[in-house]
Amino acid sequence: MDYKLENKQYGENCVVCGQTKAAGLHLYTSFICTECERSMIRTETSDPNYKYFVHQLRKITKPEIYS
Ligand SMILES: [Zn+2]
Repeated sequence: MDYKLENKQYGENCVVCGQTKAAGLHLYTSFICTECERSMIRTETSDPNYKYFVHQLRKITKPEIYS
């Protein structure tokens, strides 16, 4: 009876949009949903959104290491 609640747990928190999505890909230890992945592919470097994606992705590719 609780299958709906269980279903929700299959989703993961997307690092870009911050929403819980079931479909997506893993980049290192982070999760990017399919929608954001597609958005990033479509986004040109001149697009203001590109900066946002880069900023979000920097959290993944460059974990803060103080050394
Ligand atoms: Zn997303």
